[in-house]
Amino acid sequence: MTDEFDDLVAANRTYAETFDLSGFDGIAHAGIAIVTCMDSRIDPLRMVGLQPGDAKIFRNPGGRVTDQALEALVLGVHLLNVNRILVIPHTRCAMASASIDELRQRVGESAGQDASWQTFGVVSDQSAALEDDVRKVRSHPLIPDTVLVGGFIYDVDTGLLTRQA
Ligand SMILES: [Zn+2]
Repeated sequence: MTDEFDDLVAANRTYAETFDLSGFDGIAHAGIAIVTCMDSRIDPLRMVGLQPGDAKIFRNPGGRVTDQALEALVLGVHLLNVNRILVIPHTRCAMASASIDELRQRVGESAGQDASWQTFGVVSDQSAALEDDVRKVRSHPLIPDTVLVGGFIYDVDTGLLTRQA
């Protein structure tokens, strides 16, 4: 076995020295679930003043409400204390600014092989996609009307959220 992960495992040992989440349950203590993008500029807990233990977080490219996101939200609502859901795509997201052909071309160049078969969930109109996604959550038969659902755009340049849906 090589040691490509040594730096991270070492950091983990330091982390564990002051670990205080032992015996903590897995529910969302603040009642929050967040669906957002995988983008490394997003810190989903801190940007809304939360801490580990407070929220269920589901991330994917673009922060889309996919079938798997809905699965996570249904579990969150019924088993994990979630009563407010935020769907948060962001500005300057590759999934909203590039076309599928462009992404396939760029990935193909990086991979040195054909990537034309790879699916990418690009959106051409981010606001419309967000409205659709919020509607999908609100209309899900297993997500009751008592659960509040909000759609927000996160600005990666200012850190600000703006309500859209
Ligand atoms: Zn993104």
